Amino acid sequence: ATPTALMVGTGRGAQLGILIKGPEVLEQTRKVDTVVLDKTGTVTTGEMSLAETHVADGEDVAEVLRLAGALENASEHPIARAVADAARASGDLGQVEDFGNVEGLGVQGIVDGHAVLVGRPQLLAEWSQHLPESLQSEFDRASDRGLTAVAVGWDGRARAVLVVADQVKETSAAAIAELRQLGLRPILLTGDNERVARTVAAQVGIEPGDVYAEVLPSDKVEVVKKLQSEGKVVAMIGDGVNDAAALAQADLGLAMGTGTDVAIEASDLTLVRGDLRVAVDAIRLSRRTLSIIK
Ligand code: ADP
Ligand code: MG
Repeated sequence: ATPTALMVGTGRGAQLGILIKGPEVLEQTRKVDTVVLDKTGTVTTGEMSLAETHVADGEDVAEVLRLAGALENASEHPIARAVADAARASGDLGQVEDFGNVEGLGVQGIVDGHAVLVGRPQLLAEWSQHLPESLQSEFDRASDRGLTAVAVGWDGRARAVLVVADQVKETSAAAIAELRQLGLRPILLTGDNERVARTVAAQVGIEPGDVYAEVLPSDKVEVVKKLQSEGKVVAMIGDGVNDAAALAQADLGLAMGTGTDVAIEASDLTLVRGDLRVAVDAIRLSRRTLSIIK
């Protein structure tokens, strides 16, 4: 290939808000036929806020926020930030004596002497803390609206469901429509639950059959490998620590510039403003650059 044309492409990329690791990256972009999109922080803003707090009979909202907020204050997950911010705004946080992340499920630790869990209902179920019917129905109702809900439990009982709201980015639906026009197949990949994933997919025009939900961070890379083994040439777009391995495995990794450093390091291209339409620009740019070379 002529290095000059590729260098021009790289320079034009910078103008568009695309940082390209090396000129050769543009050659990979041309062959891509499948685009895997992480949900939280990529298709959605990832800026979550606490929208609803539902407690089981006899539980106290302030106590739920004090314990859950203290634990989440030690986590960097967008859900955790939403919970911790709301808890801090409503009162003092508890004292955390022990903290642990449970990959793809949530957080656990000791707060004010209580063994506290915050995360997916599956995490609580591992400790035989099952959601009472009233909380389960709030959990389902939130999921059906595309909102992420997490459960809170301590000392052997599920106590609350917290609903956090995340918005689909204004530009996501248009960008995904443009990907289709370029002949690319969009796929949604997330650790979040199936109902939320399907609702978000419907909002942005991704087929229900092209949704991979409840995927553990360590398994995101397996989804990319599976598509590649079917002969697909895969671009992956993500923002989180949990996307890094999948970004590295993909034929083309695109990181949101608004995302974590680990994701950016693992990727070939960085979309500076975190706008999905720029991913479409990147693909168009590479096709144009390469047609100059050919
Ligand atoms: P995503 O792919 O959507 O970025 P993750 O793999 O990071 O999701 O997390 C998957 C799910 O695990 C979340 O939707 C949430 O239910 C739960 N989870 C993970 N970390 C936390 C946390 N710190 N607090 C509460 N829930 C969490
Ligand atoms: Mg993410």
